[in-house]
Amino acid sequence: MRLYSTKNTSSFVGLGEAIMKGLPNDNGLFMPEHFPKLSESFINNLKDYSFQEIAFEVSKTLFQGTIPENDLKEIIEKSITFPAPIQTLDNQTYVLELFHGPSLAFKDFGARFMAQIMSYFNRGNEKELVILVATSGDTGGAVASGFLKTPGTKVVILYPKGKVSMLQEKQLTTLGHNISALEVEGTFDDCQALVKQAFLDDKLNSQIRLTSANSINIARLVPQSFYYFEAFKQLNDYKSPITFVVPSGNYGNITAGLIAQKMGLPIAHFVAASNANDIVPHYLCTGNYNPRPSVRTLSNAMDVGNPSNFARMQDLFGFTWNNMSKNISGYSINDEATKLGIKEVFEKYNYIIDPHGAVGYLAFKAYQKINPDTKGIILETAHPSKFIDSVEEVINQKIDIPERLAILADKKKESVLISTKFDPFKKWLLENY
Ligand SMILES: *Cc1c(COP(=O)(O)O)cnc(C)c1O
Repeated sequence: MRLYSTKNTSSFVGLGEAIMKGLPNDNGLFMPEHFPKLSESFINNLKDYSFQEIAFEVSKTLFQGTIPENDLKEIIEKSITFPAPIQTLDNQTYVLELFHGPSLAFKDFGARFMAQIMSYFNRGNEKELVILVATSGDTGGAVASGFLKTPGTKVVILYPKGKVSMLQEKQLTTLGHNISALEVEGTFDDCQALVKQAFLDDKLNSQIRLTSANSINIARLVPQSFYYFEAFKQLNDYKSPITFVVPSGNYGNITAGLIAQKMGLPIAHFVAASNANDIVPHYLCTGNYNPRPSVRTLSNAMDVGNPSNFARMQDLFGFTWNNMSKNISGYSINDEATKLGIKEVFEKYNYIIDPHGAVGYLAFKAYQKINPDTKGIILETAHPSKFIDSVEEVINQKIDIPERLAILADKKKESVLISTKFDPFKKWLLENY
């Protein structure tokens, strides 16, 4: 398997290099050269495969000989360790629960797989690997737990001060060991900009082995394609048009779905569900791409003003608006509507959905109005208890907090406050690694 940069399609690197570097030198994004098709018999008989077996078939086909099969099996057995069940709301509307991992968000899939695969490619290396990650909420917790105590790795998490929930913050700042947290006096986009700049800095890169754990890393994207197959398997309907509805921020999750589709999963359509940060829905409607600073919403893990995976989406569609807008419909849902969506799902289906899932639910209802025959699988990207305040207020009822989250409340936060300026951040890195 070889990968190119979205900014230079004629120069290639191997999988190990793409995963360790995270970003190409030209500041584009790594993309696999080919997306080989899975066999028809696999696609048509998904029900005969366990989730781990699906993960193995998909990654084996994509990586094609890059990682020996036994090693790949081990990576999967260590990372895909919890289920992704679908729940039925009605006979056209399904919820794919992606929150059964340690940090209660879908990002556990990518983070755990990436930790295993990085540690695989890092074998025998003397210099420790420093993983930089910017988070708008959920990435940090997933990456921290995915890498915790992984030999040869150190993790530095940058998060925007005051813009993540108390429990999200605890997920990043209480683990200790090889995990450090930097609290940035700015927005998520500022955090992301600091990380990007670090990768372009010669001095830093000559002294520290830096790599990235954001959704820009191809190792996070690949495992996110597994659960599209897993959901399709559970629905087991090869006749109806199936639409996947993806609550989106940096657009990594939907890109993984597009990869599953490219590899042969018969997905009819995608709905990109966004909050007020509607840059991609606006593009899908008008053809104009206008990134701008993010605004804060109830679904804060999607508060992204310049989605990094958009370059990959464009690449997948040959940089043609027409192709992309035929396959993906975009909807923007505001906070007032999101609250009503949480309430409606609770009252109508007795199901407690989180604000991100509610954005997806409403986007699907809007899409269904013009496409009444489609079945929709809404990706429920986080457990509702991660956003307990807004959810309890809306449904007017207490919700259960899973124990793995509840125990965090009493743990002590440890973080370092930094500004949005690059030089102090660089100095901190050089001093500490
Ligand atoms: C990260 C996140 C998203 C957005 O996913 P992208 O891959 O960045 O589009 C949506 N919901 C939740 C709960 C998240 O944590």
